[in-house]
Amino acid sequence: MKQEFKQLLAKYPHRKWEIVVFVSPVCNNSCVHCWSYNTYLGKMVALNWYENFFNSLNYKRIDRIKLSGGETTLYPKLSELITLIRRFIPDSVPIDIFTNARSLVPTHRSAQTVEQAKEKILKLIGKNKNICLQMSGDEHHAGSLWRAMNGILKPAITQNEMRKDNQNGLANLKNMVLNFLDACQDISLKNKELKFDFKVKLHCEKGRLKFHRHELYKDISDEIWAKHMICSEGLIKAGNAQNLSNTIQLTANDDWLSFFVFPGATFHLNPMQDKNEIYLDEKGISHYLCGSRLSNSGIVMMGWWNLVQKKYCAVKTSEFLNLLADE
Ligand code: SF4
Repeated sequence: MKQEFKQLLAKYPHRKWEIVVFVSPVCNNSCVHCWSYNTYLGKMVALNWYENFFNSLNYKRIDRIKLSGGETTLYPKLSELITLIRRFIPDSVPIDIFTNARSLVPTHRSAQTVEQAKEKILKLIGKNKNICLQMSGDEHHAGSLWRAMNGILKPAITQNEMRKDNQNGLANLKNMVLNFLDACQDISLKNKELKFDFKVKLHCEKGRLKFHRHELYKDISDEIWAKHMICSEGLIKAGNAQNLSNTIQLTANDDWLSFFVFPGATFHLNPMQDKNEIYLDEKGISHYLCGSRLSNSGIVMMGWWNLVQKKYCAVKTSEFLNLLADE
């Protein structure tokens, strides 16, 4: 695979590359549209794993680093990790942090809750520059929030249950989104040197964006909407969303070349006792992705398409770092 991976790198010399690191394989939500919820994403690893990785990463062709999951804030040293990455990767490369914001932003709306959110967000980003915090704010996250607040950690099964949960969670999620926007705006205005950015991500079912803009978030100004809301319609048919109607098949992404980093994971040719996930190579041979006991192990997978379609296009992190060193 190393050779094929190298050929693919060479095939797209002008593309931008992004690194997507699964810092936390677990999540405290259970969104019905989540592709990562039942996908193996590697293990939570200690900070020294990241020190080795980012210290050796040739960042010259990396345009963006994304910290993802699962839920990133469940990684106990997320703030330290951001600072660590900045030690090795210059400020010119943005670091995006994806979150459901449950541990950062209260669900009630008041001046005090905005202050609480500000305090937590500032603690998270520290003095690090060019950080973009991205919170999910669509109706399926509302349903998931509602279930979590009521101690339910599994996605709704029927369409009726799903719609009911979504509806029940909307008021709390809307409060969170408004608190998040107010808190982030204030941070951004008062700390211009940080170049801090923030987004609310709305990933909706086909035809549902209208509801988000004109009903749920009708009080958000056009200016904030244009600048800080990332909107997309059409849920990808993967993970939990396999059960939803009206989903779309993912196609290869022409704009970015994504490298997905699975810390602590390894591929085997035989199933292991640990949780296994099967990826097929071009000859139809199965490769089993699972956790490794070796402290420096990790896998880098190329492309959304391969990840979601479970196509084997991966190398060990050590091989990936060596391949990039040659660029
Ligand atoms: S989509 Fe929902 S369940 Fe999936 S990782 Fe994000 S918050 Fe967690």
